[in-house]
Amino acid sequence: MIKLHDKYFQPFISEEEIEAAIQKISAAIAADYKDDCPIFVTVLNGAFMFASDLMKAYPHPCQISFVKLSSYKGLSSTGIVKSLLEVGEEVNGRSVIILEDIIDTGRTIKELVHIFSNIEVKEFKIASLFYKPEAYDGEYPIDYIGMEIPNKFIVGYGLDYDELGRNLKEVYQLKEKEMINLVLFGKPGAGKGTQAEFLKAHYNLVHISTGDVFRYNIKNGTELGNLAKSYMDQGDLVPDEVTINMLANEVNNNPDANGFIFDGFPRTIAQAEALDDLLATKDMAIHATLALEAEDDILVERLLKRGLESGRTDDQDEGKIRNRFNEYNEKTAPLLDFYKNQSKLHSVNGIGTIEEITKRLQSVVDTL
Ligand code: AMP
Repeated sequence: MIKLHDKYFQPFISEEEIEAAIQKISAAIAADYKDDCPIFVTVLNGAFMFASDLMKAYPHPCQISFVKLSSYKGLSSTGIVKSLLEVGEEVNGRSVIILEDIIDTGRTIKELVHIFSNIEVKEFKIASLFYKPEAYDGEYPIDYIGMEIPNKFIVGYGLDYDELGRNLKEVYQLKEKEMINLVLFGKPGAGKGTQAEFLKAHYNLVHISTGDVFRYNIKNGTELGNLAKSYMDQGDLVPDEVTINMLANEVNNNPDANGFIFDGFPRTIAQAEALDDLLATKDMAIHATLALEAEDDILVERLLKRGLESGRTDDQDEGKIRNRFNEYNEKTAPLLDFYKNQSKLHSVNGIGTIEEITKRLQSVVDTL
């Protein structure tokens, strides 16, 4: 991976593939023009490497000339095409073959066709090393194509991102922002909330704790809070429908997130399936489920202590705590197999100091 200005790019087209594409174009032009002496009108700056290698590969007499237009600024075309270097008289009456590094929207080609419509040439052909069929408006036929590529921003082999990257021997593509979506899994008291704070800060993620959202709503006396309260007071799970809708809202309210930590969700198979469906509609997925493991007796001790410090009523009564464990064993534990079958489950020892457990989690996330 390389960095140009503020963006990262990853290898996309190798030197060998570029070489093969040039040989292909050269052979096709040579077959059509072996009895002629075409003039390769190279579109600067991007096509200079292509022109050079094509000339070297071309087996018959040929000439070269240059034209300079400008349409790209940054990552997307501005649509403004300026003529910076005019074509000379040398093209008059000649077989002209335009050499383009890449044909994208077709604006540059349109301008070139316009320029050449005022010049008497014998023939006018277009050759492009790379061609984006999804982006091209298709107005003019492209006579020689080296390689079709998807609609990605590329650099290297003459092509630039704000003038950098032209010297690269191979072609790189823009690395899309990669999300990390984590499920933090474990019984009440396993340390999900504590560890979520670290993961959130370290990986710049949005932390969604369904328990926190419910408590916030209860505190503010919202409709959702009133609905959830009776279940929470008993240590029962809030019905799936309510919880799933709430979670979908939380995700939808964070469209620019680098990723999410789901803490306390999903707690049932239905919730896990709903989460997968929701993420799939956004071209997202869960990358890992981190299961914090600890024995019940240790957890009860932790929760009772937390109950005293936080005033959380569901943490103060051992009966309610044990009921939450029962809910977990019955409804949530089956999710371990759900994520295991997707090869996403990572068990992490939840006993130790906060820092020790943090390290264990980090070593898992860093390998994703
Ligand atoms: P927590 O803070 O994660 O321990 O959650 C406290 C309580 O909120 C639970 O005992 C449930 O009553 C309710 N709750 C939190 N998350 C969920 C969920 N995903 N599904 C159903 N109920 C939940």
